[in-house]
Amino acid sequence: MVNHKIKAAEENLIHVYNRFPIALDYGEGMYLYDIDGKEYLDFAAGFAVSGLGYGNRELNEALKSQIDQLYHTSNLYYHVNCAEAAENLNRISGMDRVFFTNSGSEANEGALKAARRYAHNKKSGRYEFIAMENSFHGRSFGAVSVTGHDAYREPFEPLVPGVSFAKFNDLESVRALVTDKTCAIILEPLQGEGGINLATREFMEGIRKICDENDILMICDEVQCGMGRTGSMFAWQDYGVRPDILTMAKGIGNGIPVGAFAVTEAVARFSLQPGDHGATYGGNPLACMAVTKVIEIFEKNDIIGHVNQIAPYLTKKLDELTENLDCVIERKGKGLMQGIVVKQPAAEVNARAIEEGLLVIQAQGNVLRFVPPLIVEEKHIDEMIEKLMRALTK
Ligand SMILES: *Cc1c(COP(=O)(O)O)cnc(C)c1O
Repeated sequence: MVNHKIKAAEENLIHVYNRFPIALDYGEGMYLYDIDGKEYLDFAAGFAVSGLGYGNRELNEALKSQIDQLYHTSNLYYHVNCAEAAENLNRISGMDRVFFTNSGSEANEGALKAARRYAHNKKSGRYEFIAMENSFHGRSFGAVSVTGHDAYREPFEPLVPGVSFAKFNDLESVRALVTDKTCAIILEPLQGEGGINLATREFMEGIRKICDENDILMICDEVQCGMGRTGSMFAWQDYGVRPDILTMAKGIGNGIPVGAFAVTEAVARFSLQPGDHGATYGGNPLACMAVTKVIEIFEKNDIIGHVNQIAPYLTKKLDELTENLDCVIERKGKGLMQGIVVKQPAAEVNARAIEEGLLVIQAQGNVLRFVPPLIVEEKHIDEMIEKLMRALTK
């Protein structure tokens, strides 16, 4: 039950979230604890954000000392943290130039503007975007305009004009939408919110080809599937299909609000110019310290190696579950970003999982999503499966 102190949230917040009736208090490793001291095994990671889990001493100490030193200046001046974070993020993402934002939506806003600016500078007359059905790119106007989910869009129309939606993993449906006004194609290599749908190699390569042949920019939104989830630093690297613009957020700051969009040198040269774009907080010393420290810890502890070593165990356990339980229809996804399609309403299973002390996330298509901290071990997967079985069969 929600503690009476939490009633203030009900009375003072705008009601846009269907919150579960628990109030979390602190975390340690793979576990979160509520204000009554109840333990939750976390396979949600705050929406695929906390890759290093909770209470990482090295990260926390670095953040604490940065707070004492300086945590806000402005982008009128240089700061060493910003330079280091940019260098590190470009190295691991395989991109050339980066702009720091405060969220994933804002990263996509910037990406869409960068694409429009590229077309404007080239005087190509191109302004249209092709996006995917079942995509999710965020809640701000530009981001929601390319989000392929009517319920998120319709109440806010008219949106950004010139957007059409193709079927994910269907190249012909993309080709059919290409016109001489197409400016960019935006997609998630692994759709999260849309139900854990993995792009095929043919689809990624085909989109790259369409873009190359028509001077269209390819935007990969890796806000959720990036930063190690799929077993590569960024999912595009699994395909060897480098986008022109890459958007990031969630995992790159382990929960400190930071996002980014990054472009190739070729795009940078013809795109955003001084005065075209900005963000007051974007890339502040604290956010940039988080990015650099997270990357350092990833590399020192070979988190990517760990994901590749542990993910097959999650796959095997979820496959067994699918085989053994009639109420589980299918397993989907890759690495530490997986899901199961269930027969019962996913919301009900989710609520029962919470009673069992397990946090998971729903996705479209009646999917339960598993996006644990990347430090997850076999014993946690065993415990998750036990709790999930009880939630599914009760
Ligand atoms: C979460 C998410 C976003 C939006 O990020 P916010 O930080 O909530 O604005 C955009 N794209 C994808 C793929 C996401 O999963």
